[in-house]
Amino acid sequence: MSSNRESDRRAEELLESLGVEDWASVDPRDLAGVDMRDVPDEALPTDRRCPRCFWPVFQITTTGPHSHALRPCGCRVASVDW
Ligand SMILES: [Zn+2]
Repeated sequence: MSSNRESDRRAEELLESLGVEDWASVDPRDLAGVDMRDVPDEALPTDRRCPRCFWPVFQITTTGPHSHALRPCGCRVASVDW
């Protein structure tokens, strides 16, 4: 909690190195080689992350009682409670 500035800088450097302006325009496939656990929460525009791949979750599409697709990463989860 004491190194917000540090993580902000890392986040900016990461986005810059990926050539993207913000997370909404990032295609998960472009970041397949990036370990999202290395990306600090402060860098993400949402506090929800995919429990599988740690991508920020912008949208959840429910297709059944135990089937929810996360966007943009595309992972499917059985429950949205995490
Ligand atoms: Zn995911």
